[in-house]
Amino acid sequence: MASVLTCIYCNEDINGYKTSNESFFNDREEDQICEKCDIKLNMQNCGICNINIQKNDRYDNLICEMCSKLEKVDEHNNVIDFHNVDWYGGLQSSTKINNTIVINKLTDGLFFINGIKCRALEHRFGGVVYIRV
Ligand SMILES: [Zn+2]
Ligand SMILES: [Zn+2]
Repeated sequence: MASVLTCIYCNEDINGYKTSNESFFNDREEDQICEKCDIKLNMQNCGICNINIQKNDRYDNLICEMCSKLEKVDEHNNVIDFHNVDWYGGLQSSTKINNTIVINKLTDGLFFINGIKCRALEHRFGGVVYIRV
């Protein structure tokens, strides 16, 4: 019996395109996704500028790389940035107050970009990620 595969999201014919679902041997029709929908499902929007970025399963309000490089300020309008504490991770902030850099290892990660409240988080494998709060 010839079966036409249709995308479970948009109902279009799939034309042999295999989904990003892990199992290549999964024949269940309900798991078939077309390329277009697959891309859509694998992208999300930057929490600030709204451009498409790689989907992140942990943070759906992630901020894109460009926005992450914009100037960050704390609630007193002091320029702030975030880093890992050391090679093992952790999160600390460095705030510029009266031309002095103040390190805070107990930071809550909160900051603002263009008045938008955001939070820095320690990334699972090191590094820092930024999300819109
Ligand atoms: Zn589709
Ligand atoms: Zn952005």
